[in-house]
Amino acid sequence: MIKVLVCGAYGKMGREVLKAIHNDTQLSLVGAVDVKSDFTDVGDLIGIGKTGVTVGNDLQAVINETKPQVMVDFTRPEVVMNNIRIAMKNGVCPIIGTTGLSDKDREEINTSCIETKVNALIAPNFSIGAILMMNLAQDAAKYFPNVEIIELHHDQKLDAPSGTALHTAELIVKNRGYLQQGHPDEVEKLPGARGADYSGIRIHSVRLPGYVAHQEVIFGGLGQTLTIRHDSISRESFMPGVVLACKHVLTANGLIYGLEEILNK
Ligand code: NAD
Repeated sequence: MIKVLVCGAYGKMGREVLKAIHNDTQLSLVGAVDVKSDFTDVGDLIGIGKTGVTVGNDLQAVINETKPQVMVDFTRPEVVMNNIRIAMKNGVCPIIGTTGLSDKDREEINTSCIETKVNALIAPNFSIGAILMMNLAQDAAKYFPNVEIIELHHDQKLDAPSGTALHTAELIVKNRGYLQQGHPDEVEKLPGARGADYSGIRIHSVRLPGYVAHQEVIFGGLGQTLTIRHDSISRESFMPGVVLACKHVLTANGLIYGLEEILNK
């Protein structure tokens, strides 16, 4: 059994992860942390009765007490690096679902993997359908270099654009490089009207109640458009990916970036 700690246990994603770990026969939920903790039993959080595992509020103390092998983190962009540092210092492999990490953060995690020999996994999106959407988009960019991304999320999301949109853009750029799109003299009458710019790809972020996580990648060519769309209509969509990551991270070799790196293994 792989011993797992969940960080951000009271959150929308954290609660789903608690359920998914609890329901898997190869994973054992040994600890949970949330800054809002009032030491609730995780069983009460997910409606399965008492489990004896309570949610603590001090990551270091919970690691000392429960000795996890893996930490799954779905917290907030401004705290996740601190959690990762604590986990890795203690030999615990972090699985990072929290989005909003910078390139510098990723570099720090990579260096830390090399120095500590503790593996880590960062996945901007844990849903298998979203991985396929990104793969298809990367492929389509070979034939349709003009592309824009529209990502749509619930209105409590803190970072924009989404980690998935940025990762999609990174993958597309691998296949087509920088490209100036649209008219070179275009003018934004309202700042931001054309969205964010990643190597010439415009990324538009919609935030509304009612959405979970959705993305359209729209390619434009001569007399045609191609739209690749993925919808996560519930947070359960991310759980098979999280469980897979927990099972793979211990035997990985350093930092894994993107679930696609382990999907076909
Ligand atoms: P949420 O606000 O519902 O939950 C975050 C939880 O983290 C809260 O309960 C909060 O109290 C807790 N928290 C804050 N600081 C903490 C700390 N220092 N230590 C422990 N817990 C702390 O947010 P959410 O909707 O669950 O999303 C969490 C993150 O996951 C966001 O960054 C979101 O973008 C990301 N996300 C990623 C994926 C993916 O597939 N990678 C999917 C959905 C959401």
